[in-house]
Amino acid sequence: VDELDVDALRAWILDVPNFPSAGVLFRDVTPMLADAEAFGRCIDALAAPWQDAGVEAVCGIESRGFIFGAALARRLEVGFVPLRKPGKLPPPLVEVEYALEYGRDRLQARSGILDGGLRTLIVDDVLATGGTLAAAHELVTRLGGLTVGAGVVIELSALGGRARWPRELPLRALLDY
Ligand code: AMP
Repeated sequence: VDELDVDALRAWILDVPNFPSAGVLFRDVTPMLADAEAFGRCIDALAAPWQDAGVEAVCGIESRGFIFGAALARRLEVGFVPLRKPGKLPPPLVEVEYALEYGRDRLQARSGILDGGLRTLIVDDVLATGGTLAAAHELVTRLGGLTVGAGVVIELSALGGRARWPRELPLRALLDY
């Protein structure tokens, strides 16, 4: 996938000021998902860096990470594991708690589902402050997996989220905002 093609995806991403709260500039990917060619190009581009990385599982973060992660898992011909918000999955569970801008949140997944050091790629739509992606890496480790890297569609680089991701692990973003 060439870079110009990837950059053209910006046309399908909407900027929505003050959503879901005042001062937030929300990046809405739903127009891109609805366009067959743009969505396909996005998944191709997300997959490209990991084609020869020996990925054995894709973990998607609730909820937009499910959309990109599940499509990417099929593209890489591996299984998909959802990392979920509390109260959605039945036991047995493993969880991590992490700090948000205001308060705390948790991510949960089925205990042992990545057992044996399954080589795992973590996927989300947007990297903002980086807390969510860092928590996902911690959860993958607790699930018995081995994180090989992370892929996101959009990196909001002004928020510095990359600094919270382990330096030794690749983190690939399609678009920088
Ligand atoms: P963070 O933990 O701060 O990196 O936040 C990442 C999570 O919040 C991701 O799951 C995103 O879906 C969501 N998110 C944060 N900021 C935005 C934004 N400006 N537009 C869309 N989603 C966002």
